[in-house]
Amino acid sequence: MTRPLRRAVIDAGRIADNVRLLRSLAPADHTLVVVKANGYGHGAETAARAALDGGADWLGVADVTEALELRVAGVSAPIIAWLHSPDDDFLAATAAGVTIAASTVGHLEALARCDRPSVHLKVDTGLGRNGAGRDDIPELVRRAAELHHAGAIVLDGVMSHCSGTSREADLSQAEEFQSVIDRLRDLRVEPEYRHLAASAAALDHPSLRHSMVRFGIAAYGLAPAPHLRDTGVRPAMRVETTVVLTKRLRAGDGVSYNHLWRAEESTTVALIPLGYADGIPRAATGHAWVAINGERFPVVGRVAMDQIVVNVGDSPVQIGDDVSVWGDPLDGTPHPDEWADWADTIGYEIVTRLGNRVVRVPS
Ligand SMILES: *Cc1c(COP(=O)(O)O)cnc(C)c1O
Repeated sequence: MTRPLRRAVIDAGRIADNVRLLRSLAPADHTLVVVKANGYGHGAETAARAALDGGADWLGVADVTEALELRVAGVSAPIIAWLHSPDDDFLAATAAGVTIAASTVGHLEALARCDRPSVHLKVDTGLGRNGAGRDDIPELVRRAAELHHAGAIVLDGVMSHCSGTSREADLSQAEEFQSVIDRLRDLRVEPEYRHLAASAAALDHPSLRHSMVRFGIAAYGLAPAPHLRDTGVRPAMRVETTVVLTKRLRAGDGVSYNHLWRAEESTTVALIPLGYADGIPRAATGHAWVAINGERFPVVGRVAMDQIVVNVGDSPVQIGDDVSVWGDPLDGTPHPDEWADWADTIGYEIVTRLGNRVVRVPS
């Protein structure tokens, strides 16, 4: 069988290993792995099954559509969804055993019309994004406790999310979070699942792990922040393709749009059939490297929609040679976090923005 020209080789065993390592580095009663955005680009079902293999007991996604896709794929583990449109169908989701994180009283009322759904409260403790705002938390908590005691919902969790602004900011969010837990206790609700920490906070602050941690990016082997680049997790995605053309340039010859780069001396360039439509960040123009036959060469000239050009000098690179764009640096391939530096972004964006032409294949 011929290999797809543009491929993302996904190592599910690596995701499982990363989850195992993360559970030892940041242990909690429960481990949730986030598989939103198509498993951070790795394939949601593959990521979900690998995470469960690695010992995760919960999965997390942004919305109910993502949750239901996993159910259709046969994934039966606990799943929580936390980002809802006003007219999302909680009936179908809760009937499929999806836990809903409620940010508004409106969410709670919709959930009360379902059949004793499992509900977590989503509160904003300082991130300033999703989750009930400070002024709305008391009413959300009050109504949730009321519905819980009436048997209309099962209020078994409360969650928030850190901003990662500073240690002080995260710890102050933790205090806010604890005050919500205390408020629930005053109303005789003690939810089993109390979760605040994603990858960075879980690794940085043991006191923020509560009863569950939520690992996203680190499960895929990328760093949640620059100071967490040596935790030992390793990338599970390797983007590969093939050299499709080589040519000899003379000194002064320009490459790609606007001739941002010209050969200083005669050299060979190799054409790589991946561009920004495939997720190669255009902003990495002038900075990026790829590995061909295990050796690193610089990408030269403008990153285009379908193509990049690599200066291979006098190396014997030929049509058909293997190109690794990002993956595990142990084999010479640039790490997705290096690509992030080259494009002035974060590794999250590198792996999640893979284009439709890139075919995911198991390793
Ligand atoms: C995406 C997300 C996570 C995962 O964050 P990472 O930094 O990738 O670990 C955790 N919790 C929530 C609410 C999220 O939206």
